[in-house]
Amino acid sequence: MEKLTGRSKVVSNKKLSFWESIYLPAIIGGMFITIKHFFRKKVTINVPEQTRKRSDVYRGMHVLKRDDEGRERCTACGLCALSCPAEAITMVAAERKPGEEHLYREEKYATIYEINMLRCIFCGDCEEACPKEAIFLTDRLVESEYKRKTFIYGKDLLVEPLEKDKRIDVSKRQTPEVLEFKKNKKLTHNK
Ligand code: SF4
Ligand code: SF4
Repeated sequence: MEKLTGRSKVVSNKKLSFWESIYLPAIIGGMFITIKHFFRKKVTINVPEQTRKRSDVYRGMHVLKRDDEGRERCTACGLCALSCPAEAITMVAAERKPGEEHLYREEKYATIYEINMLRCIFCGDCEEACPKEAIFLTDRLVESEYKRKTFIYGKDLLVEPLEKDKRIDVSKRQTPEVLEFKKNKKLTHNK
């Protein structure tokens, strides 16, 4: 009969030899392979007691960055949401009121910013699209949960802490071009 694919195998129906029919050599061979693995270095680790270092450019849970003065960088332009192939990002924009200049860097900010971590495929497109260097992916993992709705991450989980020593380091994710661009204080963006 003509083969449909090149992957099919012809099954042999040859009669078993004496040693094959008592299965003992095959069982001993299998046991030998199993015992050999006892003495090999384990590839698994005990999570959560043990952690494994991830790459600095690992694409894990997002962070919404603050600027050097602690103001939220996001200006609710919506480009990240537009570029997201999974439609995981939603936000509601608001206008900054007088006296809130120390909270938000731009006149417009996101009063609500949510990422559905069940939809996110951690592609990093939001990070690439952001013109304000506000959103970055990090080496942090999204915690496992039992309820689906707990995977909607709001600003409480996404915005980085105000304290300078607790800020999330994303310098390894920034390209040399971006770092050079940031040095130019003549640009409004960098003031
Ligand atoms: S990493 Fe990709 S899928 Fe996840 S929120 Fe950003 S753009 Fe959407
Ligand atoms: S994170 Fe960046 S791209 Fe997304 S709304 Fe804020 S400023 Fe715009």
